[in-house]
Amino acid sequence: MIGLEKFDNLISLITYFKDNETCKRFLKEQRWGDDVVCPYCGHHHCRARSNGQFRCPNCLNNFSVLVGTIFENTKIALVKWFSVMYLISSHKKGFSSHQLARDISVTQKTAWHILHKVRSLYGQNDSIELSEDVECDEAYIGGNEKNKHESKKTEGTQDRSLKTKTPVFGMAQRNGNIVALKTQDTKGRTLMPIIRQFVKEPVGGINLVHT
Ligand SMILES: [Zn+2]
Repeated sequence: MIGLEKFDNLISLITYFKDNETCKRFLKEQRWGDDVVCPYCGHHHCRARSNGQFRCPNCLNNFSVLVGTIFENTKIALVKWFSVMYLISSHKKGFSSHQLARDISVTQKTAWHILHKVRSLYGQNDSIELSEDVECDEAYIGGNEKNKHESKKTEGTQDRSLKTKTPVFGMAQRNGNIVALKTQDTKGRTLMPIIRQFVKEPVGGINLVHT
């Protein structure tokens, strides 16, 4: 859907997409050209509004070009998303969410979320088989206890307790394939069957190394 191929380096991409409006104009051209189609009812030739949104004359919904895309409801500048898409397509060896977080100045959690979304866009999901050079990563998703309402706090937990968070286990192969799964914990006996399911076992077996 997105034609970032015409940029031959990251600097020219970032220079061109100087603000969110430029990014949205680009997305509109890529997605619809001159025929804006309503994402709710499929009606053609929707009109642009003065606030940058569009209005469907059939179902009367107002919508932005981001509706129905991986960018919907994002609070992250679109140029950062575009940068990740560019990096994923040009860095075949892949990179970690930790590295990406530093590169585009977001938290590791946000970087992981963006990577996951962008990879899903390129059809890199858990239907593929991973083999060799697999990097495993674990992340916990959930609210910080400190920020929760008293009634929602979990008894006996500290601010950063993992008790209240859902472990998410991810595996990424160096060529960019990724698998992310919810697991009950991140113990070896939980993870090994998952690894075996997706990773071709090398001669000599799998070594699970906790870093
Ligand atoms: Zn409509």
